[in-house]
Amino acid sequence: MTAYEHPEWLALLRSIIEVPEDDTRRLAAADWLREHDQPDHGEFIETQIELTKYRCTKPKYRELYRHDTGDMPVDLVYEGYCGKCHQCNTANELRVRSRDLLTKVALTFLDLSRDFTSLIVGQSIRAGHDEIWCDGGTLRFSRGFLSELEVTSEWFLANAERLVWHSKYTLHRAEDDPSKPGSVPRPCPPTAQPITKVKLTNDPRDIEGWEDEFRPAVRAETGLAVWKCDRFPGIDFDLQTEPHIED
Ligand SMILES: [Zn+2]
Repeated sequence: MTAYEHPEWLALLRSIIEVPEDDTRRLAAADWLREHDQPDHGEFIETQIELTKYRCTKPKYRELYRHDTGDMPVDLVYEGYCGKCHQCNTANELRVRSRDLLTKVALTFLDLSRDFTSLIVGQSIRAGHDEIWCDGGTLRFSRGFLSELEVTSEWFLANAERLVWHSKYTLHRAEDDPSKPGSVPRPCPPTAQPITKVKLTNDPRDIEGWEDEFRPAVRAETGLAVWKCDRFPGIDFDLQTEPHIED
């Protein structure tokens, strides 16, 4: 049994997915990895969380406008950091460390299951401080765990059952009614991740059985439209076509 199949690891993973915003759970998982022969992976999680503490004192922002009203900025889009202030310097050092660690653990991470390794189509695997680029897709990490994916619809739909876990109900089974309380949760798979965004490089609605599964929805926080799928309630989808909300 590898560290990643250990019941304690699965319990830690589950607790992170249940409360993704709680960094103490992520740090507990990092500690556990250090104690179970995965020090680089543990340090990667710690470094990524440490990175969130350093905010540029002179960042550049752009105003984001809501699609329907257009005249009231609803959010600020981060455009970049100055790269010169003390906070930026420390963050840059942490990014270098984060990239070194992710380079070391990328293969271990992709090896977690044959699902991830199927993204390695050719030879090219590269890691940035928070991304792994393979020929088959991009994996983006946030605070130490996979949070965003950019893959084909075929790959995502074939692997989602093992990557996406929801504590409240079993996913992916037609007979399950998401609105029904008390449906039995399936166990958290060892490859499950706190994924919140998925960019699909081709339209999943072209795939048989998925024609009607995606719908436009408005994010309450920003007023911006995104694609949602009831089978994966925690995920915002980018289908590369604009989600139009009918009034
Ligand atoms: Zn700065």
